[in-house]
Amino acid sequence: MKRDRLKKLAADKRFISGIYNYCDRWCERCPMTSRCLNFSISEEEFSDPKARDIQNEAFWKKLSGTLGETLELLRESAREWGIELETLVSKDDVENMKAKDAAVENHLLCRAAKRYSGWVEDWFKERETLFFEMAAAAREGVSLDEAIEVIRWYQYFICAKVMRAIRGRSEEEEEGCDEFPSDSDGSAKIALIAIDRSIGAWAVIQHYITDDDKEVIDLIAFLDGLRQAVEETLPSARSFIRPGFDGIDPSR
Ligand code: SF4
Repeated sequence: MKRDRLKKLAADKRFISGIYNYCDRWCERCPMTSRCLNFSISEEEFSDPKARDIQNEAFWKKLSGTLGETLELLRESAREWGIELETLVSKDDVENMKAKDAAVENHLLCRAAKRYSGWVEDWFKERETLFFEMAAAAREGVSLDEAIEVIRWYQYFICAKVMRAIRGRSEEEEEGCDEFPSDSDGSAKIALIAIDRSIGAWAVIQHYITDDDKEVIDLIAFLDGLRQAVEETLPSARSFIRPGFDGIDPSR
């Protein structure tokens, strides 16, 4: 997209600033596409599927082609500015980052969210044929496919957002920042929304399970436990106002 066009779009009052920061990235199901700059840009760029495929292929080729060139440019600029690239990130920094990553991954909430992702994967794998039969028998008006779609969409999303919230909260604490709204609350809020929707979708699936499949109840209970734990760990998350989605339009 040309720079002028991008500038023009960015200045368009129709778009809500930062709306895409705390959404679930499910543009196909989003009720705010007409207010989202991100969506508008990708629609303009990729409106024709064929053109999109061609552009995507060209994009990845271009990107890999420019990597070497970019690194060379970076080294040259660094030499000019007297910066030693190797010293920008010290061994200690790397160790520190690794320790932080490990702490986030080991956090109880993150482990629980990750466990949920794996559990869902196993659950669906074990029932592949059963679902095929159930989808064929589904009554009109109640969509099993949609419930599955919701669960699958959020299966890994929940974990990613919980991890982001935990990491953000730990960094905010380190920096002594206790402002509201905080980014960690925003991440936790969208994780909670994804959990709520997944619970609803599991309830639809439960409706179709004809045998004594207690595992669905276990999954719902597990998700509910995760929901409560996120709410307790980040108590302001539910009150976080997501631009555009939670009733307040900052551009008006
Ligand atoms: S706000 Fe909606 S349209 Fe924009 S990126 Fe998020 S899901 Fe997609």
